[in-house]
Amino acid sequence: MPSYIAPDPLTTKPNTKPAPREITVVGAGIVGVATALYLQRDGHTVTLVDRDHPGEGCSRGNAGILAVESVIPLAKTNNIKKIPRMLLDPLGPLCIRWRYLPHLTPWLLRFLACWRPRQFSASTRALAALALHALDAHHDLLKQAGALELIREKGYLFAYLTEKGFLGDQSERELQRHYGIQVEELSGAELRALVPALSPNLQRGVLFPNSGHTVNPFRLVQTLAEDFRRRGGTIKRANVTDVSIHDSKQVQIKTDTGPLSAEATVIALGAWSGRLAARLGNAVPLDTERGYHVMLPTPEVELERPVLFDDYKFAATPMEDGLCLAGTVEFAGVDAPPNYERARVLLERGRQMLPGIRADGHSVWMGCRPSLPDSLPVIGRSPSHANVFFAFGHQHLGLTLSAITGRLIANQVAGRDGDIDLTPYRIDRF
Ligand SMILES: Cc1cc2nc3c(=O)[nH]c(=O)nc-3n(C[C@H](O)[C@H](O)[C@H](O)COP(=O)(O)OP(=O)(O)OC[C@H]3O[C@@H](n4cnc5c(N)ncnc54)[C@H](O)[C@@H]3O)c2cc1C
Repeated sequence: MPSYIAPDPLTTKPNTKPAPREITVVGAGIVGVATALYLQRDGHTVTLVDRDHPGEGCSRGNAGILAVESVIPLAKTNNIKKIPRMLLDPLGPLCIRWRYLPHLTPWLLRFLACWRPRQFSASTRALAALALHALDAHHDLLKQAGALELIREKGYLFAYLTEKGFLGDQSERELQRHYGIQVEELSGAELRALVPALSPNLQRGVLFPNSGHTVNPFRLVQTLAEDFRRRGGTIKRANVTDVSIHDSKQVQIKTDTGPLSAEATVIALGAWSGRLAARLGNAVPLDTERGYHVMLPTPEVELERPVLFDDYKFAATPMEDGLCLAGTVEFAGVDAPPNYERARVLLERGRQMLPGIRADGHSVWMGCRPSLPDSLPVIGRSPSHANVFFAFGHQHLGLTLSAITGRLIANQVAGRDGDIDLTPYRIDRF
């Protein structure tokens, strides 16, 4: 186990080492694994528990974009105006399984309330605070693991079919610039000069040169998990059924393979975090925005960086296993079976946006994004129990914000003051 603490730009007392504790991180998605690594770095004895192998949840098949430009909450005018039209098409970019609607309604109402200017600005500010440090934290972990080759920093493109669509995002771009994000507006010709394979129908583009992507989101989690294990961390496979607190010092974790105990715990179960948070006295409006991918192993088109097709809400990301077409949103809960028709539509749209792509041997996947109505994650200590911490709800940005989340949790566990105020991410904000 390392006895050093790397200088941390987010801490005012960079080398404060906390008393070592036994900490169990529940959930080995990208958020749990990154958190476990930062806690381990502080000298804690850390156990990661997951019912599956690390990274098999939503972190496995995402679009891989380190979307540090993505500071605009989802309850934005441009999205909300399009909702009614999008819902008319069951295979469109947004779909609600109608049987799920009664369950979803309270979440949707809160989501719509987040459109109000005050909440919108607060969420934007809070997302920007995390995004600003997101890549730095990824570097930190991947450098330690000797795996910096897993990420590329060549930017990220948005492509629009119409001038109207492009202009519709103008105010967002101004906001992004306000937060220091570099934004380059492109004509259709400039867009195609960067990506010759794109459809001639695309009229405008935007390049975010400081964003990045991973060439394999699954291998990224596995590599970090292996680094954690190599440095003395324990990874345990078990289904966690309950968590309770004993005499305010000891956490009891019930699993299908027997009980575990720890001095502190971090709940990082992604879209499955809500039940345990409620059991610990912190009910939270967590739902899931399910998304799909199609992986094309031999696409026969070359992209240097991911491209998001704004009209259809999916991205094409060049990865080491092929071209990944990923995105769209489906509300159906975590337990409903996947509807792979939605993946088939992704492929159709992919063929329109990148004429000539080949789909031989393609595979499909569905993942459950953990989403809260205000587009912000929950990061930080439970207001009810001093030894319980939460790290979940990162919606479309869980890969991007995972490493910075881990760093912030470790800082809070250690009692280090950071530059980022964790108030906006508190679990009891609703
Ligand atoms: C189509 C799509 C594209 C996306 N693209 C991007 C992108 O480009 N960039 C980006 O930043 N984000 C993207 N995301 C979002 C991102 O994938 C998620 O936000 C992120 O993976 C969430 O990570 P997590 O660790 O919180 O959850 P998960 O990866 O889901 O991990 C949760 C873990 O908890 C475990 N678990 C659940 N219940 C239990 C239990 N009872 N006991 C034990 N273990 C349990 C699961 O097995 C799982 O391993 C995308 C998502 C989708 C669906």
